[in-house]
Amino acid sequence: MIKVENITCKYKNGTNIQTLFEQESFEINQKDFIIISGPSGSGKSSLLKIVSGMLKPNEGKVYWQDKDIYSLTNQNLSKVRLEESGFIYQDFMLIDELTVLDNIKLVQHLSKKINNELIEELIKKLSLEKLLTKYPPVLSGGEKQRVAIARALANNPKVLFCDEPTGALDFVATKEIMDLLQKINQENNVTIILVTHEQENLKYATRIIKFDNGKLKCD
Ligand code: ADP
Repeated sequence: MIKVENITCKYKNGTNIQTLFEQESFEINQKDFIIISGPSGSGKSSLLKIVSGMLKPNEGKVYWQDKDIYSLTNQNLSKVRLEESGFIYQDFMLIDELTVLDNIKLVQHLSKKINNELIEELIKKLSLEKLLTKYPPVLSGGEKQRVAIARALANNPKVLFCDEPTGALDFVATKEIMDLLQKINQENNVTIILVTHEQENLKYATRIIKFDNGKLKCD
């Protein structure tokens, strides 16, 4: 479970201070498929970065299973993020010089926890069997995102953070990826926290966090 307590996010742009949100609190449960929605520039990515351990809020705390993540050293926070969470991006962030299989295995090498059984399971779940020896540049957008999801799940994370994961995909691939994320949430018991500005995706959420005039509305 993730608990966010009284967080504030401000940026200094020259002499101006831009406040995106102030003193916001909410909780996320293991079974949640959370969608963070709102117009461009409202602060969705900043909120995702704060909750995922990438950006320390100006004020407030973020707890992952009672761990105050921003009280950890950078090294320990990196370790916790690697072991307990996965991240997928709009532009996939695959390594073009590695095959699909080596991309998927990457996080297990980083954490030195090799689990070939899990890799096999993910290859099946994400239908990657025919792509394993290929390199990312020859894949379609939907295929690249399937590889990125497999890579993000290879350490068996509790939570998957997704920043506009369908932003670069067409309608058909968007549905495919959102359906897969829903399956992973329901069958693998992985919490999903996803930023999107696409209205079509909202139906996948079990809960929505919406930016509304600088305030967060959580249902
Ligand atoms: P969204 O994901 O909803 O588009 P972001 O969280 O990316 O919103 O950004 C919200 C606002 O914060 C934008 O106006 C952006 O210019 C500003 N911003 C984001 N990151 C930074 C940063 N590192 N430094 C200064 N301003 C930033």
